Amino acid sequence: MIERWLKESSYTVVFTGAGMSTESGLPDFRSAKSGLWRTKNPQQLASTYAMQHNRDEFIAFYQYRIRTLLECQPHIGHIILANWQQQGLIHQIITQNVDGFHQQAGSTNVIELHGTLRTVYCSRCKRTYDAKRYVDEQFTCTCGGFLRPSVVLFGESLPYDAFEQAWTAAERADLWIVLGSSLQVSPANELPVIAKRSGAKLVIVNMEPTPLDEWADLLIHGRKIGEVLKEIDAFL
Ligand code: NAD
Repeated sequence: MIERWLKESSYTVVFTGAGMSTESGLPDFRSAKSGLWRTKNPQQLASTYAMQHNRDEFIAFYQYRIRTLLECQPHIGHIILANWQQQGLIHQIITQNVDGFHQQAGSTNVIELHGTLRTVYCSRCKRTYDAKRYVDEQFTCTCGGFLRPSVVLFGESLPYDAFEQAWTAAERADLWIVLGSSLQVSPANELPVIAKRSGAKLVIVNMEPTPLDEWADLLIHGRKIGEVLKEIDAFL
């Protein structure tokens, strides 16, 4: 069924979350058994409050995440999506992920709603550096300012342009495919609802149930994204 929808749709959006990258070896935040949120509190670590008042733990958390990221690679699922984009089967990728795997796999024009973990920037002069600086224990800019990850922290707004583009894509989509998101993070989780209200078919592929399941035209639970995408790809 989804193969037919992909072929018939004139504007398909793929909307990915942290579950898209667990098969690359990066933990997500909310998986029941292995998500990072099981052992660490996001409000304490990935927040503006932590950056200001709990800097050692903040740095340790991001050092760990950047180090892990640099050891991992996109998996077959990211590559299939890049191929589909090249073949014109999908028209926009919107991600909540900060890992850059879609681009590394060959996707272009990816909307990153929550920034990127690939760079850090100076909180004083805004100069940007490679995130490897964190691994090399360099946390200070030449101007003396603190280097922070280029991600959206809890307590910060989403980048305006990215969210506006994503909103426009949601209104335009006639097929919206969620891959690996608990759909608990706002305002990103409003986008599938906008798409659905604007007439799109909604497909949700997620290991566990999500709060938006009742909106879906097709739900796939309990299966890995890589396997699902390989299966669909074989039928296209
Ligand atoms: P989340 O952790 O809240 O939810 C991930 C969902 O993916 C879970 O419900 C889980 O059941 C599902 N999942 C995990 N592995 C799967 C697989 N192989 N196949 C199918 N489903 C799978 O993630 P979220 O909704 O993206 O929101 C969390 C926030 O965490 C985002 O803002 C994002 O920026 C950030 N984050 C990003 C990364 C990354 O860039 N890779 C990693 C961790 C957290």
